[in-house]
Amino acid sequence: MTERAPLSRKLSAIAESATLKVDAKAKALQAAGRPVISYAAGEPDFATPGHIVDAAAEALHDPANFRYTPAAGLPVLREAIAAKTLRDSGLEVEPSRIIVTNGGKQAVYQAFQAVVNPGDEVLLPAPYWTTYPEAIRLADGIPVEVFAGADQEYKVTVEQLEAARTERTTALVFVSPSNPTGSVYSYEETRAIGEWAVEHGIWIISDEIYQNLVYEGVRAVSIVEAVPDAANQTILVNGVAKTYAMTGWRLGWMVGPADAIKIAANLQSHLCSNVNNIAQRAALAALTGPQDEVEHMRQAFDRRRRVIVDELSKIEGVTVPRPLGAFYVYPDVTGLLGREWRGKRVETSLELADLILDEAEVAVVPGEAFGPSGYVRMSYALGDDALLEGVRRLQDLFA
Ligand code: PMP
Repeated sequence: MTERAPLSRKLSAIAESATLKVDAKAKALQAAGRPVISYAAGEPDFATPGHIVDAAAEALHDPANFRYTPAAGLPVLREAIAAKTLRDSGLEVEPSRIIVTNGGKQAVYQAFQAVVNPGDEVLLPAPYWTTYPEAIRLADGIPVEVFAGADQEYKVTVEQLEAARTERTTALVFVSPSNPTGSVYSYEETRAIGEWAVEHGIWIISDEIYQNLVYEGVRAVSIVEAVPDAANQTILVNGVAKTYAMTGWRLGWMVGPADAIKIAANLQSHLCSNVNNIAQRAALAALTGPQDEVEHMRQAFDRRRRVIVDELSKIEGVTVPRPLGAFYVYPDVTGLLGREWRGKRVETSLELADLILDEAEVAVVPGEAFGPSGYVRMSYALGDDALLEGVRRLQDLFA
């Protein structure tokens, strides 16, 4: 008998999502009765607003939704997304340049599939969301990390990007507000990066999934609004998950130049066809219905953001840049490393996250999931009481 042929080398090299892994571990401990407080999940703790759920319930009774619909999305939803894109990203776009996807994640995947060729280098500002390097590799591209630390609010500069650019650089990832850092690029910073990309003909994958979760009067300016000339080489990624507390509904989209959207839609037509029609109807209600609950959720996140930044800042050895968007804080914990806590020596943020889970029953995601060691990501999308209790435990642990 001949030995079985090997598995795909490309897929075997892909790592499991580290954030989902930490969250699953925390949930398993909670299920086993441990009082674990988890800052690991990247999702709002709120229920999806009622009028959105009602629209979905109604859609369940419409036989049109029992059938296949256009792979790129329901025309009426693509129109609503076009209106939202004009309102929030300042880009006037035909619905034909929009594909509805199974969450922003699929939009990310398809964006790289559409613009990356084997061996292309994709500039990836770090800390980065853990899915990006894998999605780039799945497109046979090479992620090139460009790191920005807490001293620059985790935001890369044009000088850093230029230093990393080679003749094989074909794309740049731009995420503002950012997961994992919550950083928001200013208008000037966004414009400078957009102009640099246009000058060098570099694709921009701009992930705007947190664009409506911003604080202190800040606006997350879309790179295509700051630099209209960039539109022909930019793919916008977005979705309803974060803004509308709809992570489980799986509804996102991508917007881009007609030729890129055409080939991405062809891919999707073979991969999964249309997104679940009920979720599409729910997303339509989300985008076109009342936005007051969205504002309530945003205000709750803002309140928690202030609490967690203030309380974490009281721990000696922890530096906490104040994030202006999303629902994450990304403290620099290098001051806690190379030391002994509760009799255990801790050298990396990975070891620190383990210690925190073991000793304080608090789950945080180590920086290693997003780039270099020395940081942890904490989502503040959890209830006010739990949020405070968890931080108090950290204050006790590192007292
Ligand atoms: N982009 C970023 C930056 C994210 O943080 C996430 C979710 N963690 C996504 C895209 C994907 O969101 P979803 O697939 O749930 O729509």
